Amino acid sequence: MSTMSGLKAKLGLDVFKPDSEPHIRIKPGMEKDPRLKRAVLVCPAGLYKENADGAVEMTTDGCLECGTCRIACGTEVLEWNYPSGGTGVQFRFG
Ligand code: SF4
Repeated sequence: MSTMSGLKAKLGLDVFKPDSEPHIRIKPGMEKDPRLKRAVLVCPAGLYKENADGAVEMTTDGCLECGTCRIACGTEVLEWNYPSGGTGVQFRFG
């Protein structure tokens, strides 16, 4: 098993309960900010993607709540909060 498929298999063990609102948002107008492109590289769950227009898009489905994107990009471009109690990730040997 390669490292990447091993990682996906481990992440697949975790359980996610979505919050009513996304707990991380790209601030409006910041989608093409160069700082956001760091998240494409560092998010361990691969939740950030750069589209053909050079804008970064993200989803919180599968977020590990590790905070790496918050540290890498900063709160000028990201609004970052923990999900409400009882929602979010539940780690299961992942
Ligand atoms: S908190 Fe971690 S897993 Fe969630 S989006 Fe940011 S870097 Fe990815």
